Amino acid sequence: MTLLKVDNLGKSFGGVKAVDGISFELKAGELLALIGPNGAGKSTTFNMVNGQLKADQGSIVFDGHELVGQKPREIWRKGVGRTFQIAETFASLTVAENVQMAMLSHDGKLFSMWRRAADHKRDEALALLDQVGMKAQADRPCSELAYGDVKRVELAIAMANAPKLLLMDEPTAGMAPKERNSLMALTKELVVQRGLAVLFTEHSMDVVFAYADRMIVLARGRLIAQGKPLEIRDHPKVQEVYFGSGKTFEKIAEKAAEVNAAVGAATA
Ligand code: ADP
Ligand code: MG
Repeated sequence: MTLLKVDNLGKSFGGVKAVDGISFELKAGELLALIGPNGAGKSTTFNMVNGQLKADQGSIVFDGHELVGQKPREIWRKGVGRTFQIAETFASLTVAENVQMAMLSHDGKLFSMWRRAADHKRDEALALLDQVGMKAQADRPCSELAYGDVKRVELAIAMANAPKLLLMDEPTAGMAPKERNSLMALTKELVVQRGLAVLFTEHSMDVVFAYADRMIVLARGRLIAQGKPLEIRDHPKVQEVYFGSGKTFEKIAEKAAEVNAAVGAATA
């Protein structure tokens, strides 16, 4: 089932067409990577979907609703989640408290109320933390966590309102390769187990090729290719614009196929 349908979407800043009439679709249970060189228009696309930027042209239909013109909070309430960095003010709260707070926020409760009811939603928060492998650390302050673990908690927070679509703009930035793979494996698990749809951008090509079900490639605001990783690998325009030499690219794709097979076996 098509969950998100983007049609002829565009946004300019001054004379620059940051996103120039792109169209793509995303299904439930699909992990879609948005790739392209710096300045290609990836973040602008994201921010139009989550409502932080208003599109100049085109439409974004999510689960039967037009999103263009809606406020970020309305879009979030309809089931479009995104990962946020845990703000410093919340770093002193425990792992579980951060997730509980996100759950309350979805219920429309006030933070002040939550302060008096610290047990609220604790079981649900722990279940979610269990899924991201953070249950054992539930009562530690976020400020004490390793970077890769913070990213897992951020994922749990983004999942707290049970979104149908999750947007992740460079989720593995700043992570070591091993942590990157483990965060993406976890994301893939959520996609498979919950039928979640994920749209993500990523610089690391081995991550993209290992975990994406499908990819769309942007260059200077235009969509130059879309398809499965192997189709993208063989796309001459993509190699030219994005990857430079095809030789490096072959190697990446081979390695990614290995990882993918391992993940497939783990989630089957
Ligand atoms: P990416 O995320 O792929 O690196 P962006 O979507 O951030 O690309 O940027 C696409 C283009 O739009 C770039 O040329 C960038 O300089 C420009 N741009 C993005 N945001 C703004 C803004 N708020 N004001 C002016 N120009 C912007
Ligand atoms: Mg960006």
